[in-house]
Amino acid sequence: MVLKQIRERINQLGADALLVTNPANVRYLSQFRSPEDGRVFISNDQAVLITDGRYIAQADQESSLEVEIAPQSWLAYVSEKAGNLRLALEADHLTHSMFEKFAEALSQKPIASNGLVAELRLHKSPKEIDLLKEAARITDAAFGHILNYIRAGVQEIDVALELERFMRKQGAESKSFEIIVASGYRSAMPHGVASDKVIEMGDLVTLDFGAKFAGYHADMTRAVAVGEISDELKAMYDAVLEAQTTALNALAPGKNGQELDALARSLLAKAGLEQYFSHGLGHGVGLDIHEGPRLSKQVSQVLEPGMAVTVEPGVYIPGNGGVRIEDLAVITESGFERLSLSSKDFVQV
Ligand code: ZN
Ligand code: ZN
Repeated sequence: MVLKQIRERINQLGADALLVTNPANVRYLSQFRSPEDGRVFISNDQAVLITDGRYIAQADQESSLEVEIAPQSWLAYVSEKAGNLRLALEADHLTHSMFEKFAEALSQKPIASNGLVAELRLHKSPKEIDLLKEAARITDAAFGHILNYIRAGVQEIDVALELERFMRKQGAESKSFEIIVASGYRSAMPHGVASDKVIEMGDLVTLDFGAKFAGYHADMTRAVAVGEISDELKAMYDAVLEAQTTALNALAPGKNGQELDALARSLLAKAGLEQYFSHGLGHGVGLDIHEGPRLSKQVSQVLEPGMAVTVEPGVYIPGNGGVRIEDLAVITESGFERLSLSSKDFVQV
């Protein structure tokens, strides 16, 4: 089904074959778990995974496509395989120099394709949604576990390592991305990757993390108070929670990412915090941690059933601290289903 759609698109481009090099796309099409070392070649009569000698056993076990083992230079192998076919390359992934090398090696000038496979990945199949659910379930379990671990005197890095250890033991393939643990003044950094800072009483701690399961990423953010936090931080928490909940509940097919972003912004404006919301409302999630659709001021994308998105407003005030709350959800025919099920009620440990 997917291959049929891809072949139609290849032909629309005026090409005879497509070489897929973007790892998330390679995994999507082949299920091969080391997609950085794999390429998928699709023509009208072939769809094969091309990898190298290190992966003979693994590729045979994992790949849903026929496997071909290329000798040292996969570029030469693919060029020979393409023969007289006009080959499309993933221009949004391949480096300029690789594109030029292909142009030299191929008998016909390659065609640049953009987003051809990524567009198909926007809509998740029921099987993909199950994998996202499992990733989110492990993430929720890790949050429940870490609440008993966070306390004054513990370093941020230890919280991150404990989250990762727990998720791996629960069956996660890895963490979805570098875990963010940002406490106290560091919570004002939207991307405050866990540091050696010691968590102190009165800190609000932002935890942004997720499990990767069978290639699919979960992504969730919670903020936890350690002891009594200031009234100002608590007010920020309440405002972000209201914006998050309202925008989340507005998810539905036909809604536009831009209007949802504006909705969250309008609620934060009521609390006088809009100017501190310095990023977009959310993003698509799947085989990539950040993929389409975008929910932001800039991108006007309409939501459709099967899309998996995050809703994650946040405010960051340098010197004071910050709060972000994020859930992962999937758009359904009638609205949405929340995949992140951890409580968002204010918690103090
Ligand atoms: Zn996140
Ligand atoms: Zn996110």
